Amino acid sequence: MNYTDRVTRVEPSATLAVSSLAAELTAEGVDVVDLSVGEPDFETPEHIKAAGRDAITRGETHYSPSKGIPELREAIAEDLAAQGMPYGPENVMVTPGAKQALFEVVHTVVEDGDEVVLLDPAWVSYAAMAEIAGADLTRVDLRETDFQLEPALDALEAAVSSDTELLIVNSPNNPSGAVYSRAAMEGVRDLAVKYDITVIADEIYEQIRYAGEHVSLATLDGMGERTVTVNGFSKAYAMTGWRLGYFAAPEGLIEQAGKIQSHSVSSAATFVQHAGLQALEGPSEPTAEMVEAFEDRRDMLIEAFAEHGIDVPTPEGAFYMMLPVDDDDEAWCTAALEEAHVATVPGSAFGAPGYARLSYAADERRLREGVDRLAEAGFLD
Ligand code: PLP
Repeated sequence: MNYTDRVTRVEPSATLAVSSLAAELTAEGVDVVDLSVGEPDFETPEHIKAAGRDAITRGETHYSPSKGIPELREAIAEDLAAQGMPYGPENVMVTPGAKQALFEVVHTVVEDGDEVVLLDPAWVSYAAMAEIAGADLTRVDLRETDFQLEPALDALEAAVSSDTELLIVNSPNNPSGAVYSRAAMEGVRDLAVKYDITVIADEIYEQIRYAGEHVSLATLDGMGERTVTVNGFSKAYAMTGWRLGYFAAPEGLIEQAGKIQSHSVSSAATFVQHAGLQALEGPSEPTAEMVEAFEDRRDMLIEAFAEHGIDVPTPEGAFYMMLPVDDDDEAWCTAALEEAHVATVPGSAFGAPGYARLSYAADERRLREGVDRLAEAGFLD
């Protein structure tokens, strides 16, 4: 398939479509409770902002080495090694956001006609990136197992084969909030080794967890040489607009992906990388406080929906939950926005029809208001 056809078949981002519709209504003077947002509603911590400002004052405004500044690559490698992952600075590429990291990795690993396996619900951009790279998608549905992977390992085994080039695993998960267990990750490892599959471990929500052990695939025996660990600063440090992420991988993959990066975006802005260094090395309390606030909101929402007789699978991480809605989740979300003025994202955008994704990156008062409006307009009956 040629490149134009590959791009043409990709759907525009459903999350962006909802936000634009919500923004249009807001511009018309409608008070929209926006539960579609994929970014923390917290400020970037002051010590990180100060590090960015200081770096600008020092003149850190020139080109960065294209794989990132050495200090940050080292700090990231140390952080990953401290968690038991087999990475040194030579295995780290600093990127303008985790999204760019994923794009470069997918385009390095996947050729036209290769099979890429996704675990649904899957973050909206995985399918698009794989399709632009020319992949054929195989999707494993985790709805029946309340979004948990462990009980669905048989289904994953049935989906993969020696034709599978890449599997993408995202835990804690956007949109379900599921955190995959150690047994689930070991199951992934067994299949990846058996069928020689490269695995992307998207760990962008790793620090936003309320329960469950976080198991990094790269720490498991046999996975170091076939795992690409993707992470970034957007979520844990409320730095979405700074555009700072990274991936860690075997050196050969870093070299190949490095060509894509150096011939396209270069690395993140130099002063932004200095701010990132401070995020890693500075106080961790702001992240802990943010996670605590998310957990309180999660509990409040779970209880509020339970009062309406709706059992929402309890998220163990990230700041999203999947509300069971009508089979036609797209129609439900459109109506909820137009009639109750509550913005949510249809589960079908993530390969999980029958649900609406709610983000609780909004203050508790607005979240309560969102639930009340949905209830009053009959959307929770
Ligand atoms: N991976 C997942 C699962 C995400 O939800 C997001 C952002 O929403 C990203 C990656 C990209 O994050 P970044 O802001 O670092 O590009």
